[in-house]
Amino acid sequence: MTESATQLLLNATESGNIPAAARLRLREHSRIFLAGPPGSGKGTQGPFLGKLLEVPHVHIGDLFRSNVAGRTKLGMKAMKHMRRGELVPDEVTLGMVAERLQDPDTQHGFLLDGLPRNLNQAEAVDDLLATTSGKVDAVLNVDISREESFRRLVGRRVCRNDSSHVAHIMYATPHKYGICDVCNGPLYLREDDTRHTIGARWDVWHAQTEPVVRKYGAEGVLIPISGIGTVSDITERAITALNAYFG
Ligand code: AMP
Repeated sequence: MTESATQLLLNATESGNIPAAARLRLREHSRIFLAGPPGSGKGTQGPFLGKLLEVPHVHIGDLFRSNVAGRTKLGMKAMKHMRRGELVPDEVTLGMVAERLQDPDTQHGFLLDGLPRNLNQAEAVDDLLATTSGKVDAVLNVDISREESFRRLVGRRVCRNDSSHVAHIMYATPHKYGICDVCNGPLYLREDDTRHTIGARWDVWHAQTEPVVRKYGAEGVLIPISGIGTVSDITERAITALNAYFG
């Protein structure tokens, strides 16, 4: 796919007008986990890929952030862990996910972004799927180095209206200071995008989430891709890898 074809695809995805060729090959396979270390770009790719797969993008971090913003009971339980870069306790996380995966829009598939992040969550979500539709079809893991992750995250500014709209103070400066180029929403620095907390999130990744990636590798459902490149490069890489995997 050329850069301009990819751009067309992204534009079409944005407008909801998705080329048939892009979606047809993926339609049968739609229970997908999206994994990757901090700053790998999952949250940016998720909405595009969800639209192409025609399934909801269920972003666990965003579900927590909206609970924190709404000061719900669940948000109050999650907040202190998120601030430290730790995982929110499984009993909180798994209850929220089990509820979301009962919603009618997820019955024909989902792109689950940010879960499972430890082996206990993997076992729980595998069991949950076994009681309904079967098992996870694929686990897409977007990989980047620790150095690149720090470069991206300390300068990242996220739109309050939509967390997939991101700017960077050095590499993708917004046209108007503090304002999202896509929707004019306010940009902010995520509380967990400080050097110390990014380090803590990487420790969690190595200790708790990499074993999950290895588990799905051993089960033959892992699709690893590099997260280095432009947003459209990575979307294209993900589509190519998913199509190759599903044949
Ligand atoms: P993310 O938006 O994916 O970077 O997630 C932000 C934060 O939300 C993480 O650092 C955790 O504190 C929390 N979080 C996201 N997903 C999970 C999960 N599966 N289990 C526990 N905590 C999570």
